This record gives sequence, C-alpha cells and structure tokens, in this order.
Amino acid sequence: MSNYWQSFLDIIYPPKCPCKTPVHEQGAWCPACLAKILSVRQINRREHNLTQLDSCRVVCEYTGVLKRIIHDMKFRQQQRYAIHLRWLIKQHIHIKDFPHIDYVLPIPLHAERLQERGYNQAEAIFKDWAMEEKMPWMVDVLERTRYTIPQWELNLTERKQNITGAFVIGRPEMVKSKHIIVVDDIITTGITLDECAKVLKKAGAASVHGLVVASGAR
Ligand SMILES: [Zn+2]
Repeated sequence: MSNYWQSFLDIIYPPKCPCKTPVHEQGAWCPACLAKILSVRQINRREHNLTQLDSCRVVCEYTGVLKRIIHDMKFRQQQRYAIHLRWLIKQHIHIKDFPHIDYVLPIPLHAERLQERGYNQAEAIFKDWAMEEKMPWMVDVLERTRYTIPQWELNLTERKQNITGAFVIGRPEMVKSKHIIVVDDIITTGITLDECAKVLKKAGAASVHGLVVASGAR
C-alpha cells in the first residue's frame, strides 16, 4: 500500500462526529452532540401557522454544530456534511410512521440557484432515505419558477411576498389524489413548505406532509 493511499485512508477513517469526536460509523454523531440537537417531534401546526400542511415532522433543533453544517452545506459547497444529516433521518424517521404515502419530493431550487450551489441539499439528504424506504423520489412534480431571495434575509411579511407564486406544478397527472411528503433541510417560519403544500393541494393532492431535519426558532 502506498504512503499516499495510507494517508488518504487515515484522513477518511476513523468515522467522526461533526464535532470531531470519534464515532462508531460514518455519518454518526457523538452522544454529547445528539443530546444537544435531537428533538424528534411533530411541529405544532397552529403555532407555526401552517394551514396547508397536514403534518410536519422534524428531527432536530437548528442549533450548535448542526446549524453550522447546514449553513456550510448551503452556502459553502460543503456537500460532504450530507452524510451526517442523512444518518439523523435514517435513524429516526420511517415511512411507516406516516399515514399512506405515494411519494417523496424535495422543495425545488430555482435552476440558477441549483447551478450556483451544484446540488439540491434536500436531495443530498433525503434521496437515499426515500430509496431505502422504497418510496419513489419525484423531482419534477413541483417546479420553482422564480429566483427568490434567501428567506432568512427577510422579515415575515417579506417572506410571504417572496415565496407566494414561486412554485408551479410540473406534472399535474402525478398530483391528483396523491399522498405526498415534501422534504427540506430546515423549517423556520414554515412559509415555504406551506406554500408548496398549497400549490400541491390546489392541484388535487389528497394530503401533504412535511419532513425536515431541523426546526429554527423564527
Ligand atoms: Zn459530536
């Protein structure tokens, strides 16, 4: 084995938590980090003013190391962190926890944003999970027609204006009477997820459930 290859393996292994503590498998988190971030629950729809989503599941609080890696994934091209977010979802969410579901779809990015970032973070996190749960992964059912300003830069009223009308149905025949899970990395106000649910329901979706890695305070 060449020295180069050995050092390569030394860098990759052993598996580490995002805080650098050694863990038992790739993607896993250490107990101390899990104690800080883990909060598997249903979002209170009334509290978040979610009028269209039938339910919304969340796995973590948007805090600490988790907050940093989600930010780095979105704005610093650090796609490698997706493995840790995938691990959290695979450990804590199973399709049998939901009522009947037909397929899973990610919140779409605008084509320009996708080009900037190089990947859809929701896809990097959830596609594997959907496959393992034997759920079809649908990327073209919902489309983003407008390049929107990142929601975190805006206040509540601006967020609503920013997102209203940003999504259209790409494949209407795939929506009618379907039970759908929409996935995203974080939920803050819930406006984006709820807008997706509104558009899907208008097109005849029977139910729309949200699933996100983390919930932020705002
Ligand atoms: Zn840790």
